[in-house]
Amino acid sequence: MTNDTDNNIKSMSCIEHNKSFKVICFTCNKLLCLRCSFNHIKDQPDHCEHSEHIDDIKQALKDISNNDNSENSVNNYDNNSNIDNISDKKQHSTFIESRIDSIWKSLKSSSERYQTLTAKENQIKQHFEQLHQHLITEEHKLKKDIIDDIDKITNEINDNVNELKHLNNILNMNINLMSMNDDHSNNSSSSNDGDSVVLDTTEQYSTITSIISISSSSSLLSFIKDNRQTLFNDNNKKINTKEQLEQYSNNPSLLLLDSIYKYNNQFQPDRMTGERVYSFNDKSEHIFNIKV
Ligand SMILES: [Zn+2]
Ligand SMILES: [Zn+2]
Repeated sequence: MTNDTDNNIKSMSCIEHNKSFKVICFTCNKLLCLRCSFNHIKDQPDHCEHSEHIDDIKQALKDISNNDNSENSVNNYDNNSNIDNISDKKQHSTFIESRIDSIWKSLKSSSERYQTLTAKENQIKQHFEQLHQHLITEEHKLKKDIIDDIDKITNEINDNVNELKHLNNILNMNINLMSMNDDHSNNSSSSNDGDSVVLDTTEQYSTITSIISISSSSSLLSFIKDNRQTLFNDNNKKINTKEQLEQYSNNPSLLLLDSIYKYNNQFQPDRMTGERVYSFNDKSEHIFNIKV
């Protein structure tokens, strides 16, 4: 049967009736001559409306093209219009015509649905973009005052620690002066202060480190002691004190008084105006003297 059909299609005519094909049954997808078609519809009447004559199909294809290209359709199909006696025009009667119509409607509907969905998606996207932007703005608004306060407190801590270094320097100077006096009277100049052991330290002393240390220290003295090798580094202070003392005619009181005067001179303007003046003079460099 299949071989017969294949042979029929190759010859484009019905071998049984020796007539050329004129009809296609779309249900069976079979090419038929007029006699075969008559028999086929007799055997399977419901295939009648799915069987189409080539002339109807030609007319329908012409109509479709004329509708689609109404401007260009003048001559394109005129050559075919007088081939056979054409049966009466039927609106959307052919299989191809209805398929084209159905596909076009489906494409139209899908495209509209697609555009509606992407518009909705875009709307949601924009809504959340605005929300994100709003949240970022709110976050910055809420954080701004806190960040300003943190900056002020950081400056305050740094200023106070800086002043404390100067005061600690004076305290150490006094200890060194007393110790030198003792050394002199005891004739034991080779004594080594335990605290003045030189330790190399490259630790970056940040404000955060200061804050952690301040929080964990029970007293100011333990804070200074804990940070003796870093923040309040006084390596070689004893030697420096000796050198300095020579500049004051070996008069410890004069050295102390002048140190206190210089310290007060540096920090007094801040206390008077309530504002800190950031001055980094030779003294502060001296105190930050960390051996690397
Ligand atoms: Zn059929
Ligand atoms: Zn036939």
